[in-house]
Formats: sequence, C-alpha cells, structure tokens
Amino acid sequence: MNPDLHATAEALDAADPLRSRRTLFVGADSPLVYFDGNSLGRPLKATVGRLERFARDEWGGRLIRGWDESWMDLPFAIGDDIGRVALDAAPGQTVVADSTTVLLYKLVRAAFDAQITRDPTRAEIVIGRNEFPTDRYVVEGIAAERGGRVRWVEVDDDTGVTTERLAAAVGPETAVVVVSHVAYNSGHLVDAEAITELAHAAGAFTVWDLSHSVGSVPIHADAWALDMAVGCTYKYLGGGPGSPAFAYVAHRHQAALTPPLRGWMGAADVFAMAPDFRPAAGMRRFLSGTPPVLGMLAMQDSLALLHDVGMPAVREKSVELTTFAIEVFEEELAPLGVRLASPADPANRGGHVTFRHPLMREVNAALWKQDVIPDYRDPGGLRIGLAPLSTSFAETLRGLLAVRDALARLSPDRLPSEGSS
Ligand SMILES: *Cc1c(COP(=O)(O)O)cnc(C)c1O
Repeated sequence: MNPDLHATAEALDAADPLRSRRTLFVGADSPLVYFDGNSLGRPLKATVGRLERFARDEWGGRLIRGWDESWMDLPFAIGDDIGRVALDAAPGQTVVADSTTVLLYKLVRAAFDAQITRDPTRAEIVIGRNEFPTDRYVVEGIAAERGGRVRWVEVDDDTGVTTERLAAAVGPETAVVVVSHVAYNSGHLVDAEAITELAHAAGAFTVWDLSHSVGSVPIHADAWALDMAVGCTYKYLGGGPGSPAFAYVAHRHQAALTPPLRGWMGAADVFAMAPDFRPAAGMRRFLSGTPPVLGMLAMQDSLALLHDVGMPAVREKSVELTTFAIEVFEEELAPLGVRLASPADPANRGGHVTFRHPLMREVNAALWKQDVIPDYRDPGGLRIGLAPLSTSFAETLRGLLAVRDALARLSPDRLPSEGSS
C-alpha cells in the first residue's frame, strides 16, 4: 500500500471548499462508504424535518385546500428551479412529472409524430446500442407502434456514442436522435452542443437523457439549443427513492408538440371537465395526471443546496474525485488485473467511473456486507459513483482499498508476488 495516497486524500479533503457541505447529509459521518450517489443520492438532514412538517402541517392541516394554495403549481415551480439551478434554462420550459421512462416516451413520441407528420420519409430514431435499457425499449416501442425504424449506432462498451458515429448515422431520414449526456455504464460524457448541432443540420430533433449528468455536470440547455430532455431527480438531484422525473422542452417547440398521453392535468382548463381534450399552452400539456407532491419534497432541499454551491464548483469537485479514484486505481487495482472502463480524460467523463474485472460481481456482493456500497453492471463492471456534495476523498480511498482487499481475497493468485510498497 502506498502511504502517499492517505496523505493525498487528506490534503485534498483539507483543500476542498465543499467539505463542510458533507455534514448536511444524513449518515455522511458514519464509516459507511457510499459509491451510489449517482443512483440514489443521500438525503439531506433538512429533508427529515420537511417530510414531517409536510405530513403534519400541510397535508394534515391544509388538507384538500393545499392543492389550490400551492401543490398544483409545484411541477412548474420546481421545474423552473431545476431549469435555473441545473439546466441553465429560462423558466417555462421544465416540468416535474411521471418517471423518466414515461416522460421519455412522451417526448420521443411527440417529437417523432411532429416530424413524420411534416415529412413521411423521416421515420428513423437514432440511438446508441448500449444506451440504458429503458431508453432502448421506449424507442423500439415507439418505432413499432408508429411504423418507424430504429437506427442503432454501434459503440465501444467503455465509452458511449461519439459525435463522429452519430454524425455518420444521422441524415435526411432521421426524425429524432436519443442520447444520454453521460453514459450510465462507463460515465462517458458527450458533447451535447455538437451533437445537437449536427442533428439540427440534418433536420432532426434531439431528446436528451440527462439522468446521469443533471446535478453533476453543468448543462446549458438553452445555449446549446437542446430541443427536449428528460432526467431523473433521485440520482444527483437527491429527490429520494422513486421521486418523479423532469422534462425540458424548448419554448420554440412547445406549441407544435401534441402530447401523446392525454390526461385531465394536461388540458387547457383542468377543472372545466370539458368533453374534448384541448392541450394546455406551455409545459402543462406534458402533464397527464395528478402531480406527485410527496415525491417532490426532498428535491427542494437538494436544489437549494445546489443553487447555493453552484454547478461549476460541483463539477470541479466531481472531476477531482474521479481523477483521485483513477489515481488509486492505477496504484492499487491495476496491479490486480482491474481495467478502467471509463474515459481517462476528465473532459469526457461524468461523475462516476467503472472498473472492470471478471470477479467484480462477487466483489460487489462482499463489499455490500461490509458497508461499502458501489454497484455492479455487466459485464464485470464495478461502478463507483462519487456524488460531489456528499463524498469525501478519504471515503473514496477507504472504499477503493476495500475493493482491492476483497479482490485480493477472491483471487489470491493474482496478488503481486511481493507486497506492494
Ligand atoms: C436511471 C436512468 C433511468 C431511469 O428511468 P426511471 O423511469 O426513473 O426508472 C432512465 N434512463 C437513464 C439513462 C438512467 O440512467
């Protein structure tokens, strides 16, 4: 073991301008190592009180009056907060609703319908072969029900789609391009502005999946001219298990998109109970049913914290964390035959890194029993998510040394013959 790594972790923590923010999270002071803040963020201590107050005073005290007084407006108010804090988007373009899967369906379907109505030869949806399963399934389903085609872009497993490969796949038959900003498996970060530009040059729409970038990587939705986007709020946005998703639709497209899932909450006059559906103006048309108010409580606290800290500082710490993790990997894991399955250049990397080894499934299971929590993704990938606001460098080192020790126990023959210095 290299003693310098401990000194490095200590120095990085001491110099970290965000280090005090860690104490705002429930459980961050325990010895548990949490490498899954990219999948389910830790709760803030402020949220514990908010949940209790909501049940007692708002739900319990205001009862059904709460809808008129504030709850009805939450999808738009919190949507605008997400836009301002994490998407750099002007108000009126972001709402909170449904799950990411459902919102992705709604937006891809609406975008596809708009395209094919204008030009019946635009029948292709372009997507990377190793996109997150829900994205692939949703796209295949829409192509099947609308008589369209999926154009699969082949990708390297350790990265994701590249601008070059997308450029080769997008053309006059492309209706929509669906891309993750940060790949869920490798953490590969794409150039969203360049990809949007090449899609537009071909007359195609983009629908971005921001699940693994929002709250971790700065996004400039308006400046990059994104068309549409969806993302999870329970990952870096700290909304809690099953918290609803968000959708962004640029102002210029809203009026021309027909919502594919018509519900009373998306109608022009919600309480008119009109015989026919007329879509509401603006983002309301993308709502279908009653807003998930309970699910929108926790994210208000983490959005306030993100606003306070600012996305540039979050990204700076995120890059330092993943860079340090890769440094530890080089010293302690690579000698055991572990491979880095994430981009080495931080400019192409989001907030998590993946290390590959045939025994990682077993390593992950062993680590969970000792309160070190990464996650496992086939084939042989151990994902290390480093939520910048709640993770320290010492925690990162402790967890990665536990990975090394578990791997050494499981594969004694792979140990270097003389102990590392
Ligand atoms: C986490 C994630 C989802 C999850 O979708 P849900 O509907 O919330 O289950 C979708 N897409 C990507 C890229 C993800 O990382």
